[in-house]
Amino acid sequence: MGPSGRSTVLDGRAIAERMKAQLAAEIRGLGAVRPRLAIVSFDTPTSQLYLAAQLKQAAALGILVTHREFTFPWTATQAEVEEVVRRLNDSAVHGMFVHQPMPPQIDPQRISALIDPRKDIEGIHPQNMARRFFAKARIGSCTALAVMELIDATGMDLAGKEAVVVGHSEIVGRPVSMLLLDRLATTTICHAGTSQAGRLEDHVRRAEILVVAVGKPQVIKGSWIREGAIVIDVGINVSEGRVVGDVEFEAAKVRAAYITPVPGGVGPVTVMMVMRNTVEAFKLQREG
Ligand code: NAP
Repeated sequence: MGPSGRSTVLDGRAIAERMKAQLAAEIRGLGAVRPRLAIVSFDTPTSQLYLAAQLKQAAALGILVTHREFTFPWTATQAEVEEVVRRLNDSAVHGMFVHQPMPPQIDPQRISALIDPRKDIEGIHPQNMARRFFAKARIGSCTALAVMELIDATGMDLAGKEAVVVGHSEIVGRPVSMLLLDRLATTTICHAGTSQAGRLEDHVRRAEILVVAVGKPQVIKGSWIREGAIVIDVGINVSEGRVVGDVEFEAAKVRAAYITPVPGGVGPVTVMMVMRNTVEAFKLQREG
């Protein structure tokens, strides 16, 4: 429970709308040239849903998007995707976003390493990963930055707090952990090994800030949540025809001070972070 004795559901849509208003003013101040984003996607329901959300917000903000000729079938080859990334590096786009997960025949690390680091708005190029490691990144994982935006909406000072991140993927778990470390949270990273050792519950019970990015419905039980915790659920799963997160929401809500819903939590803020990072890439390139 929060200080008021109540749980607050963190409204990602409202936070995204506030970010959008700020970003719209910033874009108006950029002058006549508009930021231009290229989105490489795959012909799967999840990728196309994400693309639709990105296109909607880009259109509302006046960010130009090229995407039609970059939607690949799930059978796409490494060479085909690489060819498009090379072409986009040499084109007039300011930001490039390649959807993940990629088909199994494609090596995502080779794709990440090919993206011009100045156009890499997801922070996946090794150079940008290193900048994140040294706490010097201006642009980074949109999802990780969205998680921090939601945590910051609570007003909590993170220094010395027990933060637990569940999941250690390159695009979510690891960058979130780095950002929490930068804020001096005492950060524990849990993963499949933690679960296999039967220790996930113990770590989650300690968490004052819990970030879950696994992709398995209800992997975190509501009864594990520490009273007064901030719970950020990144997971997106379809279960019994409904979109749900990784946390048992109703049971967790009773104990948490702040919790994100799925849908309507991390998702809309992540989409807005894609827009903000595109504008940031535009400014970086203009600075030369
Ligand atoms: P991912 O690459 O599949 O990573 C999942 C992570 O969870 C891995 O590190 C894995 O550890 C760990 N894991 C698997 N089973 C576990 C268990 N039983 N206990 C503890 N950890 C376990 O996925 P991702 O790209 O990070 O995405 C995670 C979820 O977030 C997905 O549902 C995805 O759709 C969602 N997502 C949402 C947004 C958004 O904007 N809301 C953005 C990106 C992703 P091992 O590697 O050790 O197996």
